Amino acid sequence: MEKLAPYTTLGLGGPARRFVEAATAEQVVSEVAEADRAGERVLVLGGGSNVVVADDGFDGLVVKVASEGVSVSRDGEQVVVTVEAGESWEPLVARAVGEGWSGLECLSGIPGLVGATPIQNVGAYGQEVSQTIRCVRAYDRRTRHVVDLEARQCGFSYRDSAFKREPGRHVVLAVTYALDVSGLSAPVAYKELAGRLGVEPGERVPLARAREAVLELRRSKGMVIDPADPDTRSAGSFFTNPVLAPEEAEELESRAPGHPRWELPGGSVKVPAAWLIEQAGFPKGYSRGPARISTKHTLALTNPTGEATAADLLALAREVRDGVREKFGVTLVNEPVLVGCALDEASA
Ligand SMILES: Cc1cc2nc3c(=O)[nH]c(=O)nc-3n(C[C@H](O)[C@H](O)[C@H](O)COP(=O)(O)OP(=O)(O)OC[C@H]3O[C@@H](n4cnc5c(N)ncnc54)[C@H](O)[C@@H]3O)c2cc1C
Repeated sequence: MEKLAPYTTLGLGGPARRFVEAATAEQVVSEVAEADRAGERVLVLGGGSNVVVADDGFDGLVVKVASEGVSVSRDGEQVVVTVEAGESWEPLVARAVGEGWSGLECLSGIPGLVGATPIQNVGAYGQEVSQTIRCVRAYDRRTRHVVDLEARQCGFSYRDSAFKREPGRHVVLAVTYALDVSGLSAPVAYKELAGRLGVEPGERVPLARAREAVLELRRSKGMVIDPADPDTRSAGSFFTNPVLAPEEAEELESRAPGHPRWELPGGSVKVPAAWLIEQAGFPKGYSRGPARISTKHTLALTNPTGEATAADLLALAREVRDGVREKFGVTLVNEPVLVGCALDEASA
């Protein structure tokens, strides 16, 4: 039985009952369809950078997506790039920047495969893939058909999509991005990045400069995978930034007057989860057994020495979530997909 830990960036997870690596979209579909017909559980795995797999492993078929191929065509001022789900994300961004295609540069340094990018609408530094995705080709396990979904059918929102809301239904086979040919970045939307670049938010900079600045910022936070840096043995940010309805925002304001926030249309407020965690008494480097909050980034929970179990990591996650809830009345939600485990022990 294949152990799943080596296939994840956290290095966690027990064995899969069955494991196949699918080298083409056709093979992905046939493996999944056959398992569905046999009533076998299926886990589609990309780069394993956004999952926490239980110590008991996965009692079913794991399909590791390994399909390759990139095709490029022109559509007026844009290039249209269709990429197989098994291509790695970071080389695609590097190529886009090198070719002068604008729209992915702020997503430099994010691990994982292309097929996973629509699942949680991957985003960073003010950019999200929903801004450039034109179409997603997927196998719909409910209807047993391959479908082409336009971006508006994907239900994208902050770290969320129709795919994530209906887990397991769609297997992404390929993603088509429409990118401006300009050599300049999209308008820089993120204050910290603008500061690093020495420009005002909304300005554009050469693509390579944007990419370099993003990579520098990410490295300083342990958010670029580096085998020599134990802080990068993570699944990225473990908690999403909570979006509070106006009445919840009022409640938080009464508990933490003047707290940092991003105002959203309609009176909702997005709050930095890292701030809540630190203020609740969990600084960078805080550990519980062998699981640790990154020493560089409060949001990343890590397995720094490789000795932690998924149970250790989840115990730390629960402690942090409960501490924040007690102090601020806000319940943090995990960003990585939990496979065979849960934050609420009762539903594990
Ligand atoms: C150091 C680090 C930094 C990170 N920084 C960011 C960041 O800045 N922004 C961000 O958004 N994310 C970030 N992440 C999280 C992660 O890299 C992304 O979510 C990435 O897109 C996950 O890709 P993956 O191929 O590794 O997916 P996996 O972890 O393999 O899978 C994640 C989920 O998607 C499903 N899935 C994967 N492929 C497919 C497919 N083809 N079809 C259907 N379902 C599929 C899986 O079943 C699972 O539910 C970071 C992670 C790490 C470790």
